[in-house]
Amino acid sequence: MLIYEKIVDDIFLIRSDSSFWFKCQGIVIKNKKSGNLLIDCNCFYKNEIENLLKDKIGAYFVSHVHLDHVYNLHYYEEFNPNIKIYCPIPENEYLTDFNNFIRDNGTLAFGIGDQFKGFAFKELGFKEIKSVIGFNPETEFEFDSIKIKAIPIPGHSLAQSAFSIEDTNEQSKRKILFVSDIGLTEKRAWAWHGFRYSNLEIFRETIKRIEDIYLSDDYIIASSHGRIIFEKQPDVFNNLLIGLEKTENDLLNMLDPKKPRSLEDLKFKGLIFPLKVFKPVEKGGNPMVPFFEHNMILHHIEDLIERGKVIEVGNKQWILNN
Ligand SMILES: [Zn+2]
Repeated sequence: MLIYEKIVDDIFLIRSDSSFWFKCQGIVIKNKKSGNLLIDCNCFYKNEIENLLKDKIGAYFVSHVHLDHVYNLHYYEEFNPNIKIYCPIPENEYLTDFNNFIRDNGTLAFGIGDQFKGFAFKELGFKEIKSVIGFNPETEFEFDSIKIKAIPIPGHSLAQSAFSIEDTNEQSKRKILFVSDIGLTEKRAWAWHGFRYSNLEIFRETIKRIEDIYLSDDYIIASSHGRIIFEKQPDVFNNLLIGLEKTENDLLNMLDPKKPRSLEDLKFKGLIFPLKVFKPVEKGGNPMVPFFEHNMILHHIEDLIERGKVIEVGNKQWILNN
């Protein structure tokens, strides 16, 4: 069953009541004239999607192609073959051919492309879809009085998009900034960057851009894994950078000004994931966990090199830049 949480009149944050761990929240904008507009309504149960499709649908938006946001997308196309599904370029190509996704996200090169496919198709029931419309950053969509503007927030994925949502008929109605997976999770501010294509330098620029937009207007923030933020919280995005800073300071403490360290010296020391989650793959451990740890440390190293704090010496070995 879907739980609807009102953000403003006719616009809701929705989530499945399933206790399954891997799911996300989405946005439903009710509009009789254009049909309802949906963002990231992956839900969990098939019948939750059937219920959403009882109303006319004007468009469906995908913020980015991570599995918790898209594994049920095929049901929309199955139940409503004429539905218009929009997705930021180039991630739209992951939805029609999953091989594009395992190439760009690095699982293929890491040797776990098949396991990742198995997780997507067998465990989560993902299916490729036939038709999806790619859109560019900053694209503005209008449906009756509803204006939806795509705001690029890359870094977490290649082309993740946030959406600014506004009802131009009702000036007194507050605007909504849906920031998807920027990192405002329920438990803590945490910017996940475990795939190969993630990039922290780009993520920092994303934070500055979204912070400027948020501070320039009266926005309510909604996101995929956190609470609705009604009251202005000026530091909400900057806290994500502070989180990164903390991890990078821990990483700097593991490096030496003279003795080069490699990834092998830095992995599985509790820097990213707690030590208890590293069960050997032979003993049934999840092969994705070491993959994510590997990438996230590399992204921090790349970020620290960019910021002049670390120097690469030799092949994938690093020292502190003192
Ligand atoms: Zn994501």
